[in-house]
Amino acid sequence: MPEPHDERRRRLRAHFAALDADAAIITQLVNVRYLTGFTGSNGALLVTSASAVLVTDGRYETQAGAQSADVDLIVDRELLRALVARARDAGIRRLAFEDHHVTVADHDALTSLTEGIELTRLGKTVESLRAVKDDVEIEQLRVACATTDAAFADLLDCVHAGMSEREVARLLEERMRDRGAEGPAFETIVASGVNGALPHHRAGDRVLSAGDLVTCDFGARVDGYHADMTRTFAVGHADEWQREVYGVVSAAHEAGRDALVVGAGCREVDAVAREVVEATAYAGRFVHGLGHGVGLEIHEAPWLGQTATGDLADRNTVTVEPGVYLPGRGGVRIEDTLVVRDGAAEVLTLSPRDLFVV
Ligand code: ZN
Ligand code: ZN
Repeated sequence: MPEPHDERRRRLRAHFAALDADAAIITQLVNVRYLTGFTGSNGALLVTSASAVLVTDGRYETQAGAQSADVDLIVDRELLRALVARARDAGIRRLAFEDHHVTVADHDALTSLTEGIELTRLGKTVESLRAVKDDVEIEQLRVACATTDAAFADLLDCVHAGMSEREVARLLEERMRDRGAEGPAFETIVASGVNGALPHHRAGDRVLSAGDLVTCDFGARVDGYHADMTRTFAVGHADEWQREVYGVVSAAHEAGRDALVVGAGCREVDAVAREVVEATAYAGRFVHGLGHGVGLEIHEAPWLGQTATGDLADRNTVTVEPGVYLPGRGGVRIEDTLVVRDGAAEVLTLSPRDLFVV
């Protein structure tokens, strides 16, 4: 596998001129991981035009050396102090920092440490780099999604009326782990019957029974990358109204998928899918955004919603997850993780989208 972190740091450096900075301090751990591969729970990174310096504490010395062999390593509990000293040695005059993430206390500390060095705001520069996935990331997401698909196939083999939502969630999470996941990408949602009307219902004690629609929203985390998929199935039989709602959500999902093209407005993609629901008797029942980016975080840029800004770029990885929620009756949501490509978007979660009756 090619070493991707050096290339990611190169992409960060390309922003220095526009930021009027000659180095950046990265304190957001997930961004440190993105730029170095380091997965410890304490660390920070200095990127200058010529070097990269990772600092962590003694617990992570061996791990950092192995995961991030191509950067300089400092072992020091005073992360900021150590990196600012290194920046000073390197003659850095203008230092960008992650202003959206640093606490007021850390900012005070940084200000007092950097006397003579001008601080400037990095903003969400690394987050915006992360929104465009490289080949290594797409492969990791592909594996996470395949693990998710496999767990769902296992579930369909054995799910039955009489199981509780919690048992369904446990089974999905167990199967994902059995197949190599580090764990679930987020707390598994299993919403049966009337609970399906709540988009973020947690798996509870309710027992699946004939006539229920059951929405499972779950995903595997593999190598730090998150999969996100939702499928809704029926127990015993599917009534006319259930098939109708399912058909509407399927059509909205298809419209959303088709709208995922390079250059499309994030707000417009949401609108295209939303209009499908709004044109039916279920107008107003699609109560959340169409989707979100996924990667090292389960929710990250770009966002697809009614107040979203920006356009889709090649290699954005996003979910498409329309739903219809009917209080007192139930709901349907269908969600996939996809990669925006030149041409049609590539679907990474490949479980069939037909209405299953189990
Ligand atoms: Zn989801
Ligand atoms: Zn999602």
